[in-house]
Amino acid sequence: MANILIYALHYEGAINKNSLGAVSEGARLAGELGGEAHAILVGEGVPAELAASLGAHGASKALVAEGPEGLAQPVVDAMAKAISDGDALFGGGLLGFEIGAGLAARLGAGVAMEVTAVRVEGGELVAERPILGDSAISEIKYRSPVGIVIGRLNAFEARETGGEAAVEQLSFELSPHAGQAKMLVRGEQRGADVDIEGADILIAGGRGLGKAENFALCEDLAKAFGGSSAVAATRAVVDAGWYPYAAQIGQTGKTVAPKLYLAAGISGAIQHKVGMQSSENIVAINKDSNAPIFEFSDLGIVGDLNKIIPKLTEAVKAKRGT
Ligand SMILES: Cc1cc2nc3c(=O)[nH]c(=O)nc-3n(C[C@H](O)[C@H](O)[C@H](O)COP(=O)(O)OP(=O)(O)OC[C@H]3O[C@@H](n4cnc5c(N)ncnc54)[C@H](O)[C@@H]3O)c2cc1C
Repeated sequence: MANILIYALHYEGAINKNSLGAVSEGARLAGELGGEAHAILVGEGVPAELAASLGAHGASKALVAEGPEGLAQPVVDAMAKAISDGDALFGGGLLGFEIGAGLAARLGAGVAMEVTAVRVEGGELVAERPILGDSAISEIKYRSPVGIVIGRLNAFEARETGGEAAVEQLSFELSPHAGQAKMLVRGEQRGADVDIEGADILIAGGRGLGKAENFALCEDLAKAFGGSSAVAATRAVVDAGWYPYAAQIGQTGKTVAPKLYLAAGISGAIQHKVGMQSSENIVAINKDSNAPIFEFSDLGIVGDLNKIIPKLTEAVKAKRGT
């Protein structure tokens, strides 16, 4: 029987969305393998209710390990203790990459990074990983008894099935080097209040904005939509210092899948496309009717964003009565 162990990242009493997707996917795969999905939370004083709530996404058991939160090495120590001959499935993101690499080295296990899909074939996991700028998919199987899957950020959908996980404490020892790093401050470059990966509506700005100050157009539009909206950016503009790196979408930035992705002054380079192509609805504003972004947009507006965005903002405000 192969159980799947999923690391659930949590912060200020909430489980990160990416981790919820990994728990859901882990539960689906464990079901096909005839095993169970077990989640693991590492932190100081993790509330039992938070751990139990992972049952709603399919975890039958939630292991709670007392240790420093948000650092990779203590998680590697805890997971190494918890894994038997099962398979580990993580969410992804920078911490996931670090944990996966550390765990692979510790256990001598195979690891696949940036995975976008996983299936069970002949009782074994097969991970799919896009390669060559997402133009091809490589399939990865494991020779080691433990296989480590690190998903691309938000690659797996969080599905609520209901239920509670049985909560168990996991005692483990921190390796000597785990204490060498300490979390001094936890924050984000763009400000902790903006959640690009979790936003339902993203207003993304590119070089077509012309200058840093014009990001105010995107911010005003995001504000007009209200609720779960945020501003994102291309690499060209973050490299130019117009917007924080934390907002960058694409191959070397974040992968997102909001309900609405509005691309303003973005050409649609392949490296940008790979980070946002799974968005439910893509709307592009570009003055060049031949811009590649229009090839994968649901709605394209050809024109000057300086004229279109303020009108759109007014229209959204009028519609919402704000
Ligand atoms: C290894 C590698 C990794 C990369 N990783 C990433 C990544 O993670 N994310 C990423 O985004 N890029 C990445 N890039 C860069 C990518 O190749 C593009 O250069 C970048 O995405 C272009 O950004 P842009 O669309 O803002 O700018 P541009 O390509 O310059 O496009 C600007 C667009 O704005 C339009 N425009 C101009 N003025 C107006 C106006 N007034 N109104 C409306 N439209 C207007 C133009 O017609 C044009 O289409 C990477 C490149 C490499 C080589």
